[in-house]
Amino acid sequence: MRIEAVEAIQVPPRWIFVRVRTDDGAVGWGEAIVPKRPLAVIGAIADLAENIRGSEAGHIEDLWLRMHRGAFYRGGPILGTAAAAIETALWDIKGRQLGVPVHELLGGPVRDKIRTYAWVGGDRPQEVLAHVQQRVDQGFTAVKMNATAQLDYLDRSSLVDGVVGRVASIREKFGPDFGIALDFHGRVHQAMARVLLRELEQFRLMWVEEAAAPESDDILPALRDAAGSTPLATGERLYSRWDFVRLLEMRAVDVIQPDVSITGLHELVKIAHMAEAYDVAVAPHCPSGPISLAASLQAGYCCANIIIQEQSGGMHYNQGYKGLPSQELLDYVTEPGVLTQRDGYFQLSVEPGLGLLLDEAAMRDRSQVWRQPDPDWRYDDGRYAEW
Ligand SMILES: [Mg+2]
Repeated sequence: MRIEAVEAIQVPPRWIFVRVRTDDGAVGWGEAIVPKRPLAVIGAIADLAENIRGSEAGHIEDLWLRMHRGAFYRGGPILGTAAAAIETALWDIKGRQLGVPVHELLGGPVRDKIRTYAWVGGDRPQEVLAHVQQRVDQGFTAVKMNATAQLDYLDRSSLVDGVVGRVASIREKFGPDFGIALDFHGRVHQAMARVLLRELEQFRLMWVEEAAAPESDDILPALRDAAGSTPLATGERLYSRWDFVRLLEMRAVDVIQPDVSITGLHELVKIAHMAEAYDVAVAPHCPSGPISLAASLQAGYCCANIIIQEQSGGMHYNQGYKGLPSQELLDYVTEPGVLTQRDGYFQLSVEPGLGLLLDEAAMRDRSQVWRQPDPDWRYDDGRYAEW
């Protein structure tokens, strides 16, 4: 069974689905991310497809090595996501061919269900209590929100009070057991991060995420001191075991957040197993579409230190973001299978491959080429601010 065709299909709200077909007609699906550079991603997929056409589809590890090392230059989100989407589709094909879910091929299930959390508040969180209530009504036991909009190197105390006030109101209304994760999004500079982390320790957060930008991970040990007992999480902008082992060796984070649409499915499992040796938990990043979520869940079912799964259901990115049509998580899905949720958990599925059936006609109908513009946030004096 040899790889015959690889096709990338761009669809709203901001997803890139990848279809791999073999010479005997088998089809598998993967999903790429990096929505702000879609043409580069689609170009990278086309380059890889040219190199692997005619290869044995079941030799996934060999293909992973070729896709990651064959070009000599390696690493980064564009090449990573192109390879990840194809690799995920190959696991989908293998699972369907053998009639088993992918997690059965990677060690078998270690659990019956996986906890999931929902997003609240958008990029610039303001009124969040009503949004959290909506999520609680939907069955969620945990939420995540961005801590703040742009924050200058040394900024006003009132902005710190705003962050603390929002978190305090959620903790007060929804009680001590409700999961609250806060994303600094790599947009908070270290001086303000230290101030915020000290103020936030009292709320027993699930974690604080990207307290440092990924290129400044070396300040995480100092930030951990400031965070006190609050767990620190990061890793959505790291791409492989080699990136994560450097992070883990710092002994500064309690939770890592690899994204299956950048690492690939088996690589996510390998990263999770490696983290287990450092007593670190995994909360896979996934603000993406249904295929990435299904792939991430397949990893979650065979890794005991994956504690919770992110998802994009109801997320601001899906709702007409930057002028693109609004689409929801299951809009391209005919059989949700592994994406079936109950009371804030995904339920173990025995459906083969990634565990869902897709509506290819809807994809082709809504397919369009788009470029998502970069945000252009500014401080009060006009300087560019990280978003
Ligand atoms: Mg994040």
